Amino acid sequence: MKKERRNVRKTNPYYGFLLGILIVLFLNGMVFPRFGKGRIVTTDYGNFISLVDSGRVKDVMIKSNQIFFTALAENGEVRTYQTGEINDPKLVDRLLEAKSPNADGKIAFNEIVPQENSPILNFLLMWVLPGLIFYLIWRQASKSIQNRLGSGGNFMSFGNSGAKIYADADVKTTFADVAGQDEAKDTLREIVDFLHNPRKYTEIGASLPKGALLVGPPGTGKTLIARAVAGEAKVPFFAISGSEFVQMFVGMGAAKVRDLFKQANEKAPCIIFIDEIDAIGKKRDNGFSGNDEREQTLNQLLTEMDGFDGRKGVVILAATNRPETLDKALLRPGRFDRRIQMELPDLEGRKAILRVHLTHVKHEEIDLDIVARATAGSSGAELANMVNEAALRAVRLGRTQVTTADLEESVETVIAGAQKKNKVISADEKKIVAYHEIGHALVAALQTNSAPVHKITIIPRTSGALGYTMQVDEGEQLLMNRDTLFNRIVTFTGGRAAEEVVLHTVTTGASNDIEQATRLARAMITRYGMSDRYDMMGLETVNNAYLGGDTSLTCSGETAADIDREVLRLIQEAHQKARDLISSHLEVMHQAAAYLMERETITGEEFMRILRQAQASQ
Ligand code: ADP
Ligand code: MG
Ligand code: ZN
Repeated sequence: MKKERRNVRKTNPYYGFLLGILIVLFLNGMVFPRFGKGRIVTTDYGNFISLVDSGRVKDVMIKSNQIFFTALAENGEVRTYQTGEINDPKLVDRLLEAKSPNADGKIAFNEIVPQENSPILNFLLMWVLPGLIFYLIWRQASKSIQNRLGSGGNFMSFGNSGAKIYADADVKTTFADVAGQDEAKDTLREIVDFLHNPRKYTEIGASLPKGALLVGPPGTGKTLIARAVAGEAKVPFFAISGSEFVQMFVGMGAAKVRDLFKQANEKAPCIIFIDEIDAIGKKRDNGFSGNDEREQTLNQLLTEMDGFDGRKGVVILAATNRPETLDKALLRPGRFDRRIQMELPDLEGRKAILRVHLTHVKHEEIDLDIVARATAGSSGAELANMVNEAALRAVRLGRTQVTTADLEESVETVIAGAQKKNKVISADEKKIVAYHEIGHALVAALQTNSAPVHKITIIPRTSGALGYTMQVDEGEQLLMNRDTLFNRIVTFTGGRAAEEVVLHTVTTGASNDIEQATRLARAMITRYGMSDRYDMMGLETVNNAYLGGDTSLTCSGETAADIDREVLRLIQEAHQKARDLISSHLEVMHQAAAYLMERETITGEEFMRILRQAQASQ
């Protein structure tokens, strides 16, 4: 069916139409009397009357507001004249009375009624044709949009709201493609079972939740798992992004929602998936700056969700990473009453995700444990990206298989940017960077409760980092105590402390450390209740937990100023501890820094060996 349509587009049928109309109009305008031969002389009405009275006029023809006439000139020639008509009621009498050179002595005169098109033709020209033209142009335009979106395969398009929504009839994704997220899968399995076998549920009188809301940070597989539900249930999958509902014209989004549900009802059992639902589902409370289009769309969605029969087998999934902004009405029972939490993967989850994505690339035996431990806090999307980066690196290095080293390097690429090997760094700067990084590593190693050093490098990265020290936790840490957090701040300050104590200088290299140390110290006081002064009083709230987690203060200005002092005190204490640790281990500092300058990248074990040797010889 598509093919035929495309052919039509090539022949452009309405150009012929346009040409046709032009010709018709042109002919219409050309209707005028062919009266006499030769030149037509224009003259005034007075002259016309005097010619009539003098008996020289032969024929007169009155056409709408013009008069054409022929008269005998002085030299006996017949000439054709033209003059404007004046509303002269006596004209006819004059013409009847006047003499004429004609054989019967009378002027031959008549009036031409302007040629009128038949009313039917007029109607066609005035109303039908323009309509037809607009229709053709509109169809052409919407077709070319559709072609541009063009996608073959198993799509059924529908909708009369202008834009198309597609249902994927044959989703290939299954739960096997989604690693970890076992709780989410368990909840969704019930929905899959319902779609397979609704009778089991309806017989007992149960109706399943109409909607489930997938909530979690970006890249945790919300979109992926929604597709997997459709793939498992083998039902059509209507996927649309919330932002697609928000149209230029008020009412279009609501029409689209109506279309979507109408079509879904016909295709039931099926799944409707609204991705990034926060685009339309925001709270409707911001009085003045209300967005009519969004609100109408949301209202329509609420109405449709209430309206359809939960037993029919239409399940609505939606995803968002800003659940706190959603309108309460969306979350009440009977709408999105199931909430499925998608969390950042833990150690086992990360291993599982790496395993899933490694099945797509050729690889050697890979030490998943080491990679998974180095990627704490990474999302599934980031892990997928790391595997791909590793494969690219293997190709770059002319290998046919991905190795553990490839994967370790790509982890750093995703976290800190690619290596900038050819960036020239002066010997002085290299020395500062080396001492700075060894400072971090030494402070970390000398404290209990802090993660072991995994790697130290002074190869610059595209992110701007001139070097970094990587610490990798042994296992998953779910709870942090005050000492652990304080030791972290000490470690952050270790780089700067090394610059100060060893090189008697301070550089801009510590800017990132300062940021992180401050954020952590603040959180300890305002959110974790770890200061004596404020006890368990909450002083800050987190706004977008899943998107960066920016915070806002909930206390008075006075308290805010006092918090600043408290934060400063904590950081000063940590900084002093770092300086003390470094001052008392200068020998190790020099040895390790020299070793690092020579190698540029050293492992945690190499560093620990130097440290242990120095401690043994003391
Ligand atoms: P979200 O919608 O939560 O932002 P996506 O579902 O779009 O995240 O995930 C992006 C990509 O990340 C997926 O296509 C997949 O390759 C990968 N991914 C994320 N989570 C997982 C997971 N649990 N298992 C396997 N792959 C995952
Ligand atoms: Mg998504
Ligand atoms: Zn640093």
